[in-house]
Amino acid sequence: RIRSERSFGGVVEVGAHWIHGPSRGNPVFQLAAEYGLLGEKELSEENQLVETGGHVGLPSVTYTSSGVRLSLQLVAEMATLFYGLIDQTREFLQAAETPVPSVGEYLRKELSRLVVGWTEDEETKKLKLAVLNAFFNLECCVSGTHSMDLVALAPFGEYAVLPGLDCTFPKGYQGLTDCMMASLPQDTVVFEKPVKTIHWNGAFQEAAFPGETFPVSVECEDGDRFPAHHVIVTVPLGFLKEHLDTFFDPPLPAEKAEAIRKIGFGTNNKIFLEFEEPFWEPDCQLIQVVWEDTSPLEDPVPALRDAWFRKLIGFVVLPAFGSVHVLCGFIAGLESEFMETLSDEEVLLCLTQVLRRVTAPDPVCRGSHTSDVLLHDARGSAVGMEGGAAAPAQALVGQLRSSSHAGGGWDPHFL
Ligand SMILES: Cc1cc2nc3c(=O)[nH]c(=O)nc-3n(C[C@H](O)[C@H](O)[C@H](O)COP(=O)(O)OP(=O)(O)OC[C@H]3O[C@@H](n4cnc5c(N)ncnc54)[C@H](O)[C@@H]3O)c2cc1C
Repeated sequence: RIRSERSFGGVVEVGAHWIHGPSRGNPVFQLAAEYGLLGEKELSEENQLVETGGHVGLPSVTYTSSGVRLSLQLVAEMATLFYGLIDQTREFLQAAETPVPSVGEYLRKELSRLVVGWTEDEETKKLKLAVLNAFFNLECCVSGTHSMDLVALAPFGEYAVLPGLDCTFPKGYQGLTDCMMASLPQDTVVFEKPVKTIHWNGAFQEAAFPGETFPVSVECEDGDRFPAHHVIVTVPLGFLKEHLDTFFDPPLPAEKAEAIRKIGFGTNNKIFLEFEEPFWEPDCQLIQVVWEDTSPLEDPVPALRDAWFRKLIGFVVLPAFGSVHVLCGFIAGLESEFMETLSDEEVLLCLTQVLRRVTAPDPVCRGSHTSDVLLHDARGSAVGMEGGAAAPAQALVGQLRSSSHAGGGWDPHFL
């Protein structure tokens, strides 16, 4: 889940994007620093000391689904409220019992209590709840889950947030795995060798090592076998959940198998949209989209086809590559999995409409940045498409997905 692409002209992270908590206690940061992969700012003491509490920074701009630009003050107020509640959820780590089983239920219970005290008019209250809903969706991305109701409250505080302002690799995250590979003796790594079963706790002989007995034998799909004294297994949890019955011989001890079954593994996708002209301001870093008429206190289940995009949290603005401008949307959960069933063209059309709606409510301005669309897939091929709007500018839109049932989730921190 680390892959740096260059199909847009600059570096695009299909998988991991940030080092979270880049400071001395973080082994990824340490390794990246040792390999000389980070810039001066990322390495600075000042950067390493920033305490974010694990909270995502405020958006640069927030649009509602009907195209209203929300006051940053309102958004900041809701962010403070939301992250205050999130901080409270971490306090149940040492508690003998929790008031409700999940983080989502706790947040909603506390929120319902607070809403009673809100004195604004109904419309403002609804808007505040819609903004809070956007923060719930964001937290689903952070936790790699469909719903915060699936994240257990008691162990939520186990997730240690390290100090340091999240940073990126100027030349791509993949530099890290490339350097690690380069540090190994040649031909030690074997590719395209899916492992079928790990036979352990045995006594295996190997013709190449006469007289030696190995407790482990790694059997590959193609029949090849590798004898070993020790094996470190790093297949993703999603794979383990699906193949637990056949992957270990003998099976893992019951408590380990139970842990694998109980820990959740969610889906998180990125959608890259490429523009010839940015419609955002030069210093814009995060564009948030708030869906009016949504609320974390209500649980409508609209058809995924009509509403999957409402789970989208908005877009991170990637650094401009010359004349190419790219937005990266984030979407988690079942809606994210539904999106995987759509063609790139369908995703593109849908998000084009979303962007028109949120950024240009005036029909005269609609589509100003979305006509004559070209679609790129992850391998860089391009397919011409009708944009549909009679507008002058041209846009290039691309989508890269990086998730699948077995290999694409985010590591969860919940049971
Ligand atoms: C869209 C997205 C964005 C992310 N953003 C961030 C971020 O900003 N910051 C961050 O810290 N993390 C992020 N993550 C999470 C991060 O990418 C992962 O936690 C990390 O890459 C996991 O590394 P891993 O080696 O454990 O697993 P993986 O990278 O999934 O590697 C597991 C490997 O095992 C192989 N494998 C599977 N089954 C078998 C088998 N049977 N035999 C042999 N090999 C097998 C797979 O092919 C794969 O190469 C993101 C993840 C995604 C999907």
